[in-house]
Amino acid sequence: MAERDFLTGLYTRRFFMQRFEQECNRANREGTPLSLMMFDLDHFKRINDTYGHPAGDRVLSDLGTLLLNSCRNYDLVARLGGEEFCILMPGLGAEEAYKVAETLRLKISRTIRIPQAEQRVSTSIGVAACSRDHDCESLLTRADQALYAAKAAGRDRTVLFQPGTATAASADSD
Ligand code: GH3
Ligand code: MG
Ligand code: MG
Repeated sequence: MAERDFLTGLYTRRFFMQRFEQECNRANREGTPLSLMMFDLDHFKRINDTYGHPAGDRVLSDLGTLLLNSCRNYDLVARLGGEEFCILMPGLGAEEAYKVAETLRLKISRTIRIPQAEQRVSTSIGVAACSRDHDCESLLTRADQALYAAKAAGRDRTVLFQPGTATAASADSD
């Protein structure tokens, strides 16, 4: 089974899901926090359509390098598919994970450029955490809901899942 995705160097979805399960079990056993960040590049189809598929590939591969260089070595960074990624952060609670996500979003915005264009690339991020009884499915669902809320609120922002409500950091803080 391929552990890493060829284009980005990140874990594949299948490999990630196996490790995710193990990390959930471990966090439950040890009573430690666990957070998941899911993110998706904004208007990526438009980038492909405007600058070509190879330029899109380059953006994905540069992003993979940036993520690998930005994370702690026990974080699990994966390409879930297409232009969608996630990072599992053992030991981090919701507020800390939110700060990490915002820092990463701003770094991507400052650093990643479309080849032969001055245009930056924006990202929407959803963050979710469980304080106890971690369960992969519910963490994934919550992070996905927060990501959806970030897209719906106008993209280029981070949303922390909170039952009932959601806090968003807008593009204005960039
Ligand atoms: P949104 O802001 O709502 O996320 O819009 P979007 O355009 O990013 O989302 P959509 O799902 O419509 O399009 C995703 C695009 O990502 C379409 C697909 O061609 C492109 N894509 C997926 N995988 C790859 C890849 O490996 N290389 C390149 N260059 N493009 C890819
Ligand atoms: Mg997208
Ligand atoms: Mg997508």
